[in-house]
Amino acid sequence: MAFGTGGGDAGGRGHGAGEDRPRVGVLALQGDVSEHLDYFRRAGAAVRPVRVPLDLEGLEGLVLPGGESTAIGRLMERAGLLAAVAERSRRGDLALFGTCAGLILLARQVEGGQPPRLGLLDLAVVRNGYGRQVDSFEADLEVPALGDAPVRALFIRAPVVESAGAGVEVLARFRGRPVLVRQGRCMASTFHPELGEDLRVARLFLSLLAA
Ligand code: GLN
Repeated sequence: MAFGTGGGDAGGRGHGAGEDRPRVGVLALQGDVSEHLDYFRRAGAAVRPVRVPLDLEGLEGLVLPGGESTAIGRLMERAGLLAAVAERSRRGDLALFGTCAGLILLARQVEGGQPPRLGLLDLAVVRNGYGRQVDSFEADLEVPALGDAPVRALFIRAPVVESAGAGVEVLARFRGRPVLVRQGRCMASTFHPELGEDLRVARLFLSLLAA
């Protein structure tokens, strides 16, 4: 699929075909797909929905959105995307960003249900770890890598990161637990940056694509 088609990239918004912009796919099987397409587009990427392995062609980054990790993991497996994404990541030519359910799909160890997943981030997480009765909450996070202004973070039935391996860089914590992490060319948050106006988290991810 070419950029600028399929409801993905903002073709016709004056950016030409977008060849000069970082090329980012958003896994479009379940979850808040359009919010992520819009968020990374606003941050300067040429975006494309990804439903089958062929959609990965030419991408530099892939975003796993928030949603229901069990549903997304099963659909990824069925579409052949678990294997295809793992292979591209192993080759080192696909950076990954996971939001909430996306973080769960990237985590090595998961408690509270075992969705089929990539397991590329050395994290142990507990699904719905803030308690099922805690549907959502907001918090201001200090994120030194993003400057002095705090990041306003929205958590929705978020996982709790119980532990992170030595190779994981913790970019932000909430109540002592990692909520924004990075390991090599893999980044993930337990909160939802795409639901705010702050583009700094997306831009930090886009900076990994050039690295
Ligand atoms: N609770 C969901 C899960 O365990 C994640 C919620 C979200 O992505 N906002 O998959």
